[in-house]
Amino acid sequence: MNAALNSSVCCPSCAVRITSWPQHQLVQCCERCLRPMLMLRVRGKPFKLYRLIRLFAAVRMVLALLASVLLIALVARLLPLGWIVGASVAAFVLQGVTDLADGLLGLRSGHMRSGQRPYIGAAARRQSSIKCAFGLLLIGLALFGLLLM
Ligand SMILES: [Zn+2]
Repeated sequence: MNAALNSSVCCPSCAVRITSWPQHQLVQCCERCLRPMLMLRVRGKPFKLYRLIRLFAAVRMVLALLASVLLIALVARLLPLGWIVGASVAAFVLQGVTDLADGLLGLRSGHMRSGQRPYIGAAARRQSSIKCAFGLLLIGLALFGLLLM
């Protein structure tokens, strides 16, 4: 059963109105831009308030936090170098897969958001191609890093 949403709830990627959300489901894909959205509960009392965020943006936030921790661990010499290299490779792979998935969804849907600027049609497909290439580059660099270990 789907929960009815307020009419002002919009996709954080393409701003299309979201009219329903399956109950007990945290992630749903937008029908227009195909991007996965994450529903987070931000307040509980007196009303339950929720916020939709882009799943890819959430992954990037976690990766930025991981990169900060790795940098601190590297400077303070808290972890062995092998662990830091392994975690860096994992972060590169995750970022590359996220960029590749975002680019492929942009190629398929014709909608892309790069930074705060939305792109539609041919411009979106051009931006999506660049994002796919960047994702493949990151995955390639991660594989290269694995070879060096
Ligand atoms: Zn959307």
